[in-house]
Amino acid sequence: MPKILKITGLEKTYTSGNKQLTVLHDIAFDVEQGQIFSIVGPSGSGKTTLLGLCAGLDQPNAGTVELCGVDLNALNEDERAQLRNEKVGFIFQNFQLLPTLTALENVSVPLELQGAKNATEKSLELLDKVGLKDRVHHYPSQLSGGEQQRVALARAFVNAPTILFADEPTGNLDEDTGEKVIQLLLELNKAHGTTLVIITHDLELANRTQHILKLKGGKIITNEPTATL
Ligand code: ADP
Repeated sequence: MPKILKITGLEKTYTSGNKQLTVLHDIAFDVEQGQIFSIVGPSGSGKTTLLGLCAGLDQPNAGTVELCGVDLNALNEDERAQLRNEKVGFIFQNFQLLPTLTALENVSVPLELQGAKNATEKSLELLDKVGLKDRVHHYPSQLSGGEQQRVALARAFVNAPTILFADEPTGNLDEDTGEKVIQLLLELNKAHGTTLVIITHDLELANRTQHILKLKGGKIITNEPTATL
């Protein structure tokens, strides 16, 4: 399988005041196209930082990220944003919906801003697919946590990303609701071949993915396919 994400020699140091903290050390791994890949590790081990670097939201102090065949170091900020708009989706633990927009607008407005045609139709279709047909005109404050995460999922999938990064997508959800969100993610992977890179605390969820990368103290502890029983 071709590699959709190739990371080599990645390092990240944060500076605050005169203090420097290196939170990722010499990280290297690959993700295959269509793979369901999880990143696990204790809080503070560098998972969110790593995801931001993989998606070109932040830049490393050393090393390379090749995303969808493109070396992110070779792109300027606008070009990285364009690559993200075209190929990348995100889901966050706290949903990050805009409170002043309805469910439908949360999905359609970003798409319209990218100049897409039929943004409303595409958004309605996806909201229907995630089971929110009768909630499209509700505001985030009128939706449950699970419903908000499904809106976020629709927003992430509306421009058919090649790769989707999810940071603790079930972290704020109860078990049943979290399971529904996971099922949807797996269905979308199956239907569209979207690569999934999921940060999770939940080892049960990690064991349902195909590959687990374990971080501790900013270093890779293990990087291997999930054991099949
Ligand atoms: P995780 O997602 O595994 O909890 P993070 O990537 O969020 O880990 O954080 C890794 C380390 O980097 C932590 O020690 C955290 O405090 C630090 N960190 C994260 N973001 C910043 C930042 N913007 N400035 C300074 N330190 C940060």
